[in-house]
Formats: sequence, structure tokens, C-alpha cells
Amino acid sequence: MPGKKEELGKLKKETEEDRALPLYGTANFVFGEGDIDSEVMFIGEGPGFHEDRLGRPFVGRAGQLLDKLFAAISWPRESVYITNILKRRPPENRDPLPEEVKAYSPCLERQIEIINPKAIAALGRFAMNYFLPEAKISKDHGVAQYFKNYLIFPLYHPAAALRSTQVLKDLEADFKKLPEILKNPPPKPPPAPPKEEKTQNQESLF
Ligand code: URA
Repeated sequence: MPGKKEELGKLKKETEEDRALPLYGTANFVFGEGDIDSEVMFIGEGPGFHEDRLGRPFVGRAGQLLDKLFAAISWPRESVYITNILKRRPPENRDPLPEEVKAYSPCLERQIEIINPKAIAALGRFAMNYFLPEAKISKDHGVAQYFKNYLIFPLYHPAAALRSTQVLKDLEADFKKLPEILKNPPPKPPPAPPKEEKTQNQESLF
């Protein structure tokens, strides 16, 4: 049976070569990086200018802040896995389009399945709403919630923290909760009673 590394390598190759995916041919491919056995996966929105140039997630100004936040909790950046919803940069860093999110979601979902983290730190509202569509970043940041079997920990996006001192303070405080959340995750809610009927939409998310 292929191991995680092989599975991720295959997914990376298949996704990178998929000409039907939006943004193919307009931007470089940024799959993700880090410890594939990490208990926590950090998921952002999509690559920016510097990420596109280097083919690595979170290496620009937002990434430098992320590195500082890791240092403050003594987590080497290499000890976690970091990726984005979109694997290619939208032009001019515009917000991801719903069809782009949809097109890249099979890749992200397979990536999560292979890595199988204990918790997902969702960086910013796009990543948070991917898992928790009803959540509001100003209210729900720093509060771990379950989505299916995954523990989602919404965080402000580091780029937002670069623009606001209060957001930075909140992000720093939320980051400090991470080690404890992993050590003592909140109890899982009881399974929901079986639904009579599922729409196709509900079926598609995991
Ligand atoms: N912003 C993101 O959401 N992801 C990156 O990789 C860089 C900036």
C-alpha cells in the first residue's frame, strides 16, 4: 500500500497537470509543504505574489507574520503542514471565486484525508467558511468547532493582522491556544441523527 508521501506526491502531480482546473496556465502551482504527519494543518485562501514566485505557501509578508506566531509558541514552521484552498494565485490577488473553490476542493479534501490531522487551523474567513459556512470570523475566531470528524480552529488571516493592531492581538492570543487544543481537544458532539434525504450538495463535502 502506498504511504502518505507517495499518495501526496501522486495528488500533487495529478492536480498540477490538470489543465481543466481554473487558473491553470495563469499562475504557478503551490501545493503545500511541511510535516505530513503533523497533528495540525494550516489552511489559507490561495497563493499570493511571493508564493506564486517561489511555489511555496505563506512566504510573503503574511507568511513572515505566521513564522513569528509559530516562534511565539515554539513550534517550528516545518513541524506543521501548510496549504491553501486554491493551489494557484488568482490574478491581482482577488478573492477566490466560488467555482475556483469548488474546482480545487477535491484536491484539498484528499490532502486532508491523506494527512489526517487532529485539527485544522483555518486562516481567514475563506478557509473558515469552507468548513463552517455560517461562521463569522469576528465572532468565531479562536473557538474550536467540529466539522464532521475534523476539529476546525478559525483564526484571523495574518494579512488582516498586518492591517489592524486589534486583529493582530486577537490572532496572537488565539495562536497561543493551539497547543492546549491539541493536547485537550473539546469533546466531539454526539453524531447527528440520520437524515431522511441528503441533497447532492451535502454529499459533496467529505
Ligand atoms: N495568503 C494566503 O491565504 N495564502 C498564502 O499562501 C499566502 C497569503
